[in-house]
Amino acid sequence: MAEKFASRRNIDFLISEVFDVVSLNRFPYFKDHDEETFKMILDTAMKISADMMFPYFKEMDVNPPYWENGKVHVCKKAMVPFLKEMGEGGWIQAEKPYHIGGQQLPLAIKDLAYFLFGAANYSMHVYQMLTAGAANLIYQFGTQEMKDLYLEKMYSGKWQGTMALTEPDVGSSLGDLTTTAQPTDQGYYLIKGQKIFISAGNSDAADNVIHLMIARLKNGQVGVPGISLFVVPENRINENDELEYNDVQCGGIEHKLGYKGSPIVQLTMGEENNCRGWLVGEQGKGLAQMFKMMNEERVNVGIGAISKISGAYYAALEYALQRKQGRKPDQKDPAMPMVDLIEHADIKRMLLFQKAVMEGSLALATQISLYQDLVTVEENAEENEMLADFLIPVLKTYPSEMGILATSAAIQIHGGYGFCGDFPVEQYYRDIRIDPIHEGTTGIQGQDILGRKVSLKKGKAFELYVNEVEKTIAQAKAYPELGKQTDSLQVAVQLMKDLTAELIAKKARITNEAFLADAVLYLEFMSQIAIAWQWLKLMIASVRALKSEPSDQDKAFYQGKIFTGRYFFDYELIKIHSLAIRLRSDDKVTVEMTREYFAD
Ligand SMILES: Cc1cc2nc3c(=O)[nH]c(=O)nc-3n(C[C@H](O)[C@H](O)[C@H](O)COP(=O)(O)OP(=O)(O)OC[C@H]3O[C@@H](n4cnc5c(N)ncnc54)[C@H](O)[C@@H]3O)c2cc1C
Repeated sequence: MAEKFASRRNIDFLISEVFDVVSLNRFPYFKDHDEETFKMILDTAMKISADMMFPYFKEMDVNPPYWENGKVHVCKKAMVPFLKEMGEGGWIQAEKPYHIGGQQLPLAIKDLAYFLFGAANYSMHVYQMLTAGAANLIYQFGTQEMKDLYLEKMYSGKWQGTMALTEPDVGSSLGDLTTTAQPTDQGYYLIKGQKIFISAGNSDAADNVIHLMIARLKNGQVGVPGISLFVVPENRINENDELEYNDVQCGGIEHKLGYKGSPIVQLTMGEENNCRGWLVGEQGKGLAQMFKMMNEERVNVGIGAISKISGAYYAALEYALQRKQGRKPDQKDPAMPMVDLIEHADIKRMLLFQKAVMEGSLALATQISLYQDLVTVEENAEENEMLADFLIPVLKTYPSEMGILATSAAIQIHGGYGFCGDFPVEQYYRDIRIDPIHEGTTGIQGQDILGRKVSLKKGKAFELYVNEVEKTIAQAKAYPELGKQTDSLQVAVQLMKDLTAELIAKKARITNEAFLADAVLYLEFMSQIAIAWQWLKLMIASVRALKSEPSDQDKAFYQGKIFTGRYFFDYELIKIHSLAIRLRSDDKVTVEMTREYFAD
């Protein structure tokens, strides 16, 4: 099996040469960190990934968790020490303030560490990632009593956290959920209902599971205003500080295509009318509050997809460097030795595609984390929050959707061997397939960006984003060697402005259904431009570095970036022009097609 799943060097390039993450220490909140501490933290993350996680990558796929007598049994020999390490190392709450045990670490660093964890073994990483998100909701909206009860146990990795939204008949349409919460005069609510597909929702690697669950107040309003957020522990804590059964029953787990090391469970609450939940934050604000966790997890899903592309890319690269097959088209002599696969232009095309999607997306992830870090220190907080929120659907979706193609290309490079279990690429391909589905499907992300975010606050977020891209274009003009890419991005930004204005103007004349019918195509269009923007940044940093006479090894590294950037602009960004043709079209084929016409 391939040994390399991610590039540590690329991460140093991002934090020091592209984004200058260390300059965040100008703010008191981050003042204790410098480049050395960042590198140490990332080295530790790499070591945990390589030593504790990657060795179980395949084993957890082949021997997935199983359900027996109401309990889910996971790979304890991997999970118990890993969760302990996550807790003791402070990874779960690393970005939080010192006074609650955090390290005041920039998200830009934490997210890159999470990228490494995901590349080594996403199924393992997801347990602590969900605990972090659930604990953060309690931290942000919970009462002091709740914080005292749960946070320390969750941050230490002893108690698992989940997000419990989905029900058998309610997935994307969360406003229709049916799980109920009946108020009592004891300060808690009685929860009744069923949830499905709850990741890490039961596990024998944790002493308790804390569900952050949305439910509808009994006899309350219909739709979104009727939904509130509750903390529903698997086992509640009684007056003697002991764990006591809370009537949350795990009825089984699903058998999945991939991402098998992490169970998704069915939960039934209140069979014995004894499931207690405690309101988190305000009544009726459940979905809005839950969106805080969902946004965090959408970033995590995007980063997780990049992780899987990375693992598959390094496996494909290693294979392409070793496998000999055929000769170059101009080598006609059959007595000549066969060449390594990597000598073939078509193989290089596929590797460039994977590298372009992966590294461009990772740069975008870092960009978004940095906006969020500026929100933490209240630096132009409103603008930076808008920028991050605007780009989250892109980060959630682009690597998830393109990752299916990228991991497929990794299989293709392996030929028939790629389709077989001896090589890791088929697993990455199966593992990534969930990413366009969970945490809001691609369809929902498309509707979010076109239906909501482009016109939010009279288009302010869109305007801020355009300014950001134009700033990079202005910087790139100092580098004539990047003239072609700079011009292409400028044309793309103009097209983005024109097309978006046209679509918004058209909205007034057409039905909402027609307006949103191609929202996913609009998201793809926006994604290509966002990744091109990041590639221009990566190319600027590389051109700069090449001027300072780097070592031969570094020279190859930077040239690799420039070639991959050239690939992205020439093979990927150009797709926006065909997308724009369709987005401008008035032919409403998908709206007008009827169910009857699907008849055979
Ligand atoms: C491995 C895995 C892990 C998961 N983890 C969790 C978890 O931890 N917690 C949790 O609560 N849930 C979890 N889920 C559930 C997941 O979030 C849902 O599967 C997802 O939100 C989609 O809901 P659904 O499956 O009901 O599909 P549906 O909502 O039925 O969607 C089916 C299709 O219809 C489309 N569609 C739906 N509504 C519309 C619309 N209005 N307009 C246009 N198209 C539409 C969707 O885009 C999709 O393509 C997980 C699921 C899986 C498989």
